[in-house]
Amino acid sequence: MDHELLNGLLRPKSIAIIGASAKPGKIGYTVIDNLIKDGYPGKIYPINPEATEILGLKVYKNIGDVPGDVDAAVMTIPAKIVAQELIECGKKKVKGIILITSGFSEVGRKDMEDELVAIARQYGMRILGPNIVGTLSNSDKLNASFAPCLPLPGKVSLASQSGALLIALDASTYVRRVGFDKLISNGNMCDVNFTDLVTWLGVDDNTSCIALYIEGFKDGRSFIEAAQKVEKPIVALKAGVSSHGAAAAASHTGSLAGAVKIYGAAFKQAGVIQATDLDDLFDRVLALSIQPPMQGDNLLVLTNGGGVGVLATDAAERCGLPLHFAPEDVQTELRKHMPEFGSAKNPVDMTGMAGNEWYYETTHFAIGHPWTHGLVVLYCETAMTNPQQIAEAIKRAIDEADVKGKPVTVSFVGGERSDKAIQWLVEQGIPAFGAPDRAVNAIATLREYTRLRESIKDPAVSCGDVDSAAARKLIAKARAEKRSTLTEIEAKQIFELYGLPTTKTSLATSEDEAVKMADATGYPVVMKIVSPDIIHKSDAGGVKVSIKDAAAVRDAFKTILTNAKSYKVDADIHGVAIQEMAPWGTEVILGSVNDPGFGPTQMFGLGGIFVEVLKDVTFRVAPVSRTMAEQMLSEIRGAPMLDGVRGEAPRDKAALVDALCKFSSLIVDLGDEIAETDANPVIVYEKGKGLKVVDARIILKNK
Ligand code: ADP
Ligand code: MG
Repeated sequence: MDHELLNGLLRPKSIAIIGASAKPGKIGYTVIDNLIKDGYPGKIYPINPEATEILGLKVYKNIGDVPGDVDAAVMTIPAKIVAQELIECGKKKVKGIILITSGFSEVGRKDMEDELVAIARQYGMRILGPNIVGTLSNSDKLNASFAPCLPLPGKVSLASQSGALLIALDASTYVRRVGFDKLISNGNMCDVNFTDLVTWLGVDDNTSCIALYIEGFKDGRSFIEAAQKVEKPIVALKAGVSSHGAAAAASHTGSLAGAVKIYGAAFKQAGVIQATDLDDLFDRVLALSIQPPMQGDNLLVLTNGGGVGVLATDAAERCGLPLHFAPEDVQTELRKHMPEFGSAKNPVDMTGMAGNEWYYETTHFAIGHPWTHGLVVLYCETAMTNPQQIAEAIKRAIDEADVKGKPVTVSFVGGERSDKAIQWLVEQGIPAFGAPDRAVNAIATLREYTRLRESIKDPAVSCGDVDSAAARKLIAKARAEKRSTLTEIEAKQIFELYGLPTTKTSLATSEDEAVKMADATGYPVVMKIVSPDIIHKSDAGGVKVSIKDAAAVRDAFKTILTNAKSYKVDADIHGVAIQEMAPWGTEVILGSVNDPGFGPTQMFGLGGIFVEVLKDVTFRVAPVSRTMAEQMLSEIRGAPMLDGVRGEAPRDKAALVDALCKFSSLIVDLGDEIAETDANPVIVYEKGKGLKVVDARIILKNK
């Protein structure tokens, strides 16, 4: 049903323009002109209470007067009368509204959008927008927008939150030679959002690759789920490097979580490729829309110039697809098509003597050889060769080798003749670029796609039966006391319920009690202030470690209380925690913030300067799977620390992966209650010896 509605909205067979105008320059005129000019084959019904004819079309006073069915209605009328016209559309059984009109949530009037959505739900309609340019589809000859033209035809479809950007990209597709089928402006997304659009484009026959320009969204989790299910490449360009959530963060994790990190994590989990800028977006979608994904890491580079070969080698490493030497049999064959001073390793340098024939032979052989998973062909324009003929030799070699599932990208560096050959190659379905690193980046994207899809196969594990009721009871107690933070002792109790090992801790309210507890715990002990008003205990002089006897316990008890009171005069002090002192190990941090768009997110990093100074941390949207937890351990820069440096034994990574999964269950289970969580530090021991959560912090959501 929803799919049908979106078909009506994005591929309408008939279309009404509410706010149609006879005045050139008005949007209500341009949309009709565009529909006609670009050859829209469906019915066009201009609606305007005053006019009788616009651009040769009969005008209706009201949408209710239109004789036939109307699939979609474009609205260009003032914001304040949209609701009443929407009801008329509902009565007419219109499927989709293309709401171009501005002046809604972008100027603080979310309430007006809510009203529209309620009407749309009541009548079973979908709304695209508001605050958009419209929607375009080459395969339907549909230009229901005020963008200048239909884009260069192709197989990429774009959904863009920015209308201005969509207009700019539209005409540039001809210059960039990247073909698009649909351009969908989704603006404020009061109803139809990225989740709907990737799902719909995912089954659209005329789309082989989806491009997204994203400013921000609220339905992060459903987007991840929807994108995971789409069986075609999605490339996202995320704009806005704001630090939302970081400003008022009470936890360490909160201050490190920014939009960039969280979106980056979400894309990874969704199996979505992230582009770094507009040029990168175009290069990637070009490759993804016309070449097959790359199924392995063996990339072979053919070249007639050493310099571009080295640039390609550097780019390959930068793009995560480093070159390996080709096996001996491959080298032997390739050596037949180069002079003595050439190189058959990788990159394969045929030297400046390479002509059409050598390009044909090496390309044909390399793409056909089982070792090769992908091929980059580089060419520098020389006086002895003709770029067009080289391009034709490459194309013929690929066609005649007739292998499926192996991508090829090309770079020609030269003048006008090379540029023409590039254009010709792209028209033949071979992504070609003016620089070697772009050809490498494009093929690396095809490899990134298969790797990403592989990595999202493993579902997140739950840590089994957990007494979440007991955890909720602890939270309820804090709320009853009007507290928004749990004490370390309470937080650790919750961690224990979820199977995370913590240092044994008891609460002493007097010196005598402290000594008794320390005796029972066994020396040395650690003593810490317990107060919901003191979140960072060390800052308040509230932590004493390595306490070796009863006399030192008494001293520490007094000092900690004095320090706490001078730090915050009216602090509510529960007492002093007496806890076992964990032996030395590698300190790491596990953390979580509840993001407004994505819900509970999870952070991992090494403790100390790694997190404080280098901010060397990585994020995921929870829950994380075992595979994702392993990825998190390996993708921080300090990863080798866990494998043991300078003769140290490797750390217990298995225990750490397990802890990340358990932590994940905790933050998801209690996601409705918890705003931020830190386990900082967690001390990790040698392989087989586990880990200990030494400090725990839980900050509750405002309710
Ligand atoms: P806070 O982060 O609130 O300042 P912590 O509980 O993290 O306080 O204590 C500060 C530091 O003291 C920790 O980073 C850790 O190095 C050390 N520490 C705290 N508790 C223990 C413990 N039980 N065993 C060993 N070291 C500890
Ligand atoms: Mg701490």
